[in-house]
Amino acid sequence: MAKCTFCGINLPRGTGKIYVQKDAKVLYFCSSKCEKNMLKLRRKPITTKWSGRYEK
Ligand SMILES: [Zn+2]
Repeated sequence: MAKCTFCGINLPRGTGKIYVQKDAKVLYFCSSKCEKNMLKLRRKPITTKWSGRYEK
């Protein structure tokens, strides 16, 4: 099962978005919110409080 690259939520097969970077690394997103934060705003999951991967 894939997990959202940004917030870490589980993505059942067939849900979410798959994004392939130029270096062939595959990113998974549960929502456009996560996609936007990662790709456009260049936020990091561990420093974003609402993401499940936030670390103090
Ligand atoms: Zn997400």
